[in-house]
Amino acid sequence: MSTLTRVFGICIFALGGINLAAQESQQTMLIHAGTLLAIPGEAPQSRKSIIIRGDRIASIVDGYVDPASLDGEVQLVDLSDKFVLPGLIDMHVHLLSEITPTSRNDALYVTTSMQAMRGFHFADITLRAGFTTVRDLGGEPEAIYALRDAINQGIVSGPTIIAAGSSLAATGGHGDVDGYKPELLKLWTPETICDGPYECRKATREAVKFGADWIKITATGGVLSDTATGLGQQLTDDELREIITTAHSLGIKVAAHAHGADGVNAALRAGIDSIEHGTFLDQESITLFKQTGAYLVPTLLPGIRLPESMEGNPFFTDAIKAKGYAAGAAASRNIAAAYRAGVNIAFGTDSAVTPHGLNGEEFALMVRIGFSEMDAIYAATISAAALLSYSDQIGSIELGKLADIIATDGSPLSDITELEHVSTVIKHGRLIK
Ligand SMILES: [Zn+2]
Repeated sequence: MSTLTRVFGICIFALGGINLAAQESQQTMLIHAGTLLAIPGEAPQSRKSIIIRGDRIASIVDGYVDPASLDGEVQLVDLSDKFVLPGLIDMHVHLLSEITPTSRNDALYVTTSMQAMRGFHFADITLRAGFTTVRDLGGEPEAIYALRDAINQGIVSGPTIIAAGSSLAATGGHGDVDGYKPELLKLWTPETICDGPYECRKATREAVKFGADWIKITATGGVLSDTATGLGQQLTDDELREIITTAHSLGIKVAAHAHGADGVNAALRAGIDSIEHGTFLDQESITLFKQTGAYLVPTLLPGIRLPESMEGNPFFTDAIKAKGYAAGAAASRNIAAAYRAGVNIAFGTDSAVTPHGLNGEEFALMVRIGFSEMDAIYAATISAAALLSYSDQIGSIELGKLADIIATDGSPLSDITELEHVSTVIKHGRLIK
């Protein structure tokens, strides 16, 4: 099955599943947009009307249409004093959890069902912050798939979730369980831990079998594993190739958590679709990104905010702090170099490491290291939709696409922090906020 077929499949499922929501929103919504950035990358326009029927954008016209001129019941959403743009897409979240000083105890006390409940809470916060679609890159599979499906079926409110379940990782690597006594480590080892190409091929197929929309792998060490094993390559070249080839043969894309340049470059050579973090990427990485067209998802929020908040918090052990400071010092410089070189960049925050709902703070960090405001918005709309193979559905406000629309009081093109307090959220033609 091709990637497109797969995404189309997801789409059909989503459409079939949201009957609850769709029936009550079959009426027409009319938006008066003071300023409309319909297609990020192109110039915004003033005084436009957007007409939505059901969950789709039916037309966009000049001036403010009189609601009485439209057939049937019409819900007027007056955004004539607002800046209107497409719903935002965060390509890297973990909706089921959030780091607190005591989160290491969660493994002892928090059930899978409770994780789903927490996920519902964080999903709602994320949607209200203006993020109408997220890619969840790592969490208890049963809980995140249930949350994804409940949102698609209109049972609960939240962003559309593209879910990866738990990460494929090497034994003892980032993504495996660490820090507990051996009896507990044995009990809690995720089923997606794999060593050698054959185990990794099977783990990939099983992840897809149980519901993964994407495969997430941890190609290198990670800051938050409580192990002093560095941030270099952990999955070997043959394991990376096997996972990516197998996933692609099933029409599924692969995202690699990768800090060290050795792991970034090995994953790019193996055909990865997105590199998450990319902290120590080098000149060779930039060449490989440009050759392959792979995307970089920078996640500056944890890179910059984590080192500021680690002292005095018992979650951050000495092993974690050492890696956190090293990564924080390198991230801004290397991500900026990739941006300047024209690497494809999609927006991501790693929310859970930093609090959910503050996803919009990533934009200001991008601008601080050199992104133009428009390019930061482009990364969270057009680019992210393209990486998801979802460009025909989301990422811009155009005829026939899903009506995922947000608004801010002022223009984020002149002050990017406007995206930290979004005033209006519409998802699939329903007014959420
Ligand atoms: Zn992450």
